[in-house]
Formats: sequence, structure tokens, C-alpha cells
Amino acid sequence: MTNSNKIKLVVMGASRVGKSAVTVRYLTKRYIGEYSSSTDMIYRHNTTIDNTTTEVEILDTCKCSSTGCLYDHIRWGEAFVIVYSVTDKTSFLEAQFLLGKVGEIKLPTYFSTLLLGNKRDLDHFRKICVDEGQELSLAYSCQFYEVSAAENFAGVSLAFQTLLREARSIQLLK
Ligand code: GDP
Ligand code: MG
Repeated sequence: MTNSNKIKLVVMGASRVGKSAVTVRYLTKRYIGEYSSSTDMIYRHNTTIDNTTTEVEILDTCKCSSTGCLYDHIRWGEAFVIVYSVTDKTSFLEAQFLLGKVGEIKLPTYFSTLLLGNKRDLDHFRKICVDEGQELSLAYSCQFYEVSAAENFAGVSLAFQTLLREARSIQLLK
């Protein structure tokens, strides 16, 4: 029996895009505002997916200077949340780079990926439109949501739950 009720999820993306904010929002429903960014954090959490209790390990990464670290994170994970800020073009390019890396390192194993555009509340400062996020997600065959960790728990929760459901379905196929 290879199916286990555990999913390893990695949250990646450029610095300051809100990786910790979306992770903490998903786990606690709360938005605190400032988060430690100097270390990787791992959280364990139980959730119900299609009537099955599933343990989720979430690795909230900080910016890694070494590519070895990035490689280890991707090797470890089965599901990936790649976050960019809709106000930051560089973070969108970084997300594109990470989508490529995940594919390169994980294939031919199955994995699930969610591209997450955060900070949608900052519409005045928007640099990346919804269509660009959508197009990128289509190019990499991954899920896509725009959210605001600051203003909306429901959107963050829906995005994570949708990813986890896909990851669980993949595990059941193995
Ligand atoms: P990380 O480095 O990617 O983990 O980013 P953080 O979660 O530490 O967030 C970086 C900064 O962006 C913090 O000041 C957060 O309060 C802010 N931030 C995170 N999410 C949002 C959001 O949805 N909207 C706004 N306006 N600010 C956010
Ligand atoms: Mg962080």
C-alpha cells in the first residue's frame, strides 16, 4: 500500500510576496502582518479531504541563496504553492522560473502545483494582470488563484484546499 494520508506541501516564491502570510492565513485564519523571514518553517496540520483526514506538512520557505536548497525543497515536496505578488513583476518572473524548476526536478513523478498571485487588495499598484497569471498557469498546466492574505481568508483557504484535493487524488492513483 503506497497511499498515505500525508501530503508534503512547499510554499515558494520571491522574498516579501506573502508566502508566510498566506501560509499562516490558511492555517490559523488570521493575518498578522509581519512574519519572521530568516528561516524555513515547517507546520503540521490535519485537514479533511473528501471525508478523509489527511496530515499536511507545509514547508514555508525563506529565500534560498543556494540552488542546492531549492533542489532539496522541490525533491521533498509533492504539492507546491508558488507565490508572486501582483504588484511585483520580478516576483512573477521568479514564479515562472520556479514553475520550470519544479517540472524539471519532479518529472516524471506526479506532483500538483498552484500558482498564487497574492496582494490583490493592492490594486492601485498592480503590475501583473489576472490574464498574465492565467496564461502562465495554462503554460505549466497548474492551478491558479489570485488572493489577498491581508483581506480574505476564504480565497486563500479555497486555493490551498483545491491544491490539496488534487494532491490527494494523485496519491490515490499511485
Ligand atoms: P514572504 O517573505 O514571502 O514570506 O512574505 P511575508 O508573508 O513576510 O509578507 C511580506 C510583507 O507583505 C509583509 O509586510 C506582509 O504584511 C505583506 N503582505 C503579505 N500578504 C499581503 C497581502 O495580501 N496584501 C498586502 N497589502 N500586504 C501583504
Ligand atoms: Mg516568509
